[in-house]
Amino acid sequence: MNQAQEHMSTTMSLVEDRRAGADRGAGAPAMKQWRSPLGDPAADLRDEIALAGGVPELPDKIWFHKTAAAVIDAGRCVGCGGCIAACPSRSIGVAEDGKPTLVKMCTGCSACWDYCPLAGLRTEALHAYATDASGSRAAGDTAVPIELGRIDSAWSVTGRTRAAEVQDGGAVTALLCQLLSTGFIDGAIVTRRIDAFHGEPFLATSPEEVRAAAGSVYHQSHPLTVLNEPLPNGVARIAFVGTPCQVSVLRALQRFPWKYRRSSAGAAVLAIGLFCTRSFEPDKLEEAVGAAGVATSQAARVDVRDGDLVVRSATTELLRRPVKEFHAASLKGCDECADFTGLGADLAVGNLASEPGRSTVLVRTEAGRDAWEAVTRALDVRPLEDLSPVVRAAARDRNRAVRSLARPFDPEGPLWTSYTEHLDLYAGGERSVQAPAKFRSHHFEVTC
Ligand code: SF4
Ligand code: SF4
Repeated sequence: MNQAQEHMSTTMSLVEDRRAGADRGAGAPAMKQWRSPLGDPAADLRDEIALAGGVPELPDKIWFHKTAAAVIDAGRCVGCGGCIAACPSRSIGVAEDGKPTLVKMCTGCSACWDYCPLAGLRTEALHAYATDASGSRAAGDTAVPIELGRIDSAWSVTGRTRAAEVQDGGAVTALLCQLLSTGFIDGAIVTRRIDAFHGEPFLATSPEEVRAAAGSVYHQSHPLTVLNEPLPNGVARIAFVGTPCQVSVLRALQRFPWKYRRSSAGAAVLAIGLFCTRSFEPDKLEEAVGAAGVATSQAARVDVRDGDLVVRSATTELLRRPVKEFHAASLKGCDECADFTGLGADLAVGNLASEPGRSTVLVRTEAGRDAWEAVTRALDVRPLEDLSPVVRAAARDRNRAVRSLARPFDPEGPLWTSYTEHLDLYAGGERSVQAPAKFRSHHFEVTC
């Protein structure tokens, strides 16, 4: 018996076993659990049919339900929206639970797997760690620690005029307003607050709209999905502001465009990465803050400051507690993220290393340098010498990721990992591939 015949024989007996179980009727002993020969909880009827036909489907050909099973149903999704932005047939949307879900037929193109930073895309291999494209050390500075990536210059910054809602120095708001005013960009994808816990991404095309969105929201609201919307007339050059994982996927979309994908990723001439250690499930965070005694309807904003979660109303501080007390509300997938400073960004911005009221800006690339030169006159800037707090935080982040990842952390390794590798490496742990939720990949239940 050759391999294909063996597969067919195994599968037919499994299929018969299922049928027999189904025929037993109510009250019959539970039928034997069907296990795919691939040991894959996300294997489906298609795998069965393919195997029964003697021509198994390629195990690494991905339909959305497999990405969902490995990432979303395994509780690892970080809400970047990369899968939605990468899907050429616009088959993925956002479900009521705030997670990506199928909204129409999946074509099995595998793009959601390939561009997801928690699935196929090995983001550490995407960025040049402390080296530029030619392989030399960053900015001629051999002392730049690997965690900081490529740096051209580092600054402590505050806007000369500040929007009421801005965080720290308001550098991002001031930068974007100036870049819009000078025509360097025509728009910027930013996230605005819906309430203290929830945000929504949109394309701001005026300084007024940027100012209205000032201030942080610790809600990953799939901002990359805005790239799926056509740009308005007159908007050709945009900035993207997001967390490091989002910037990584933007870079992948730009580096690997696809003629079948309609996306404005190519119009993003500037990526601004925000320092990030983790983000939260907004509903869980709201619940946890409520359980800590805060009337959440009074909460106007949430910030993370020096290891504390700080909740404020419009006029006063309502809560300040160690952020680790809210760990259960954080995104589990963030544990696997080794990028604190936005290694793929043109400009990286955060509050570490600058005094209160100011922001730290790392200028990384030529595009970052051009943007920086266009805006410095509108900002109060000082060169920043001591980046050690940023280095320490980035090292902590990387160590956490190395411990949490079930696959090797290897900046020198390949750009992608396959589904079957993932299945094996994550098997048995609390991050293992799960049977997909039916509502999320409903093609299981729908026939035509
Ligand atoms: S992590 Fe991002 S790309 Fe991956 S499933 Fe979640 S939203 Fe999609
Ligand atoms: S910690 Fe990493 S994965 Fe989580 S939101 Fe921040 S950048 Fe994204």
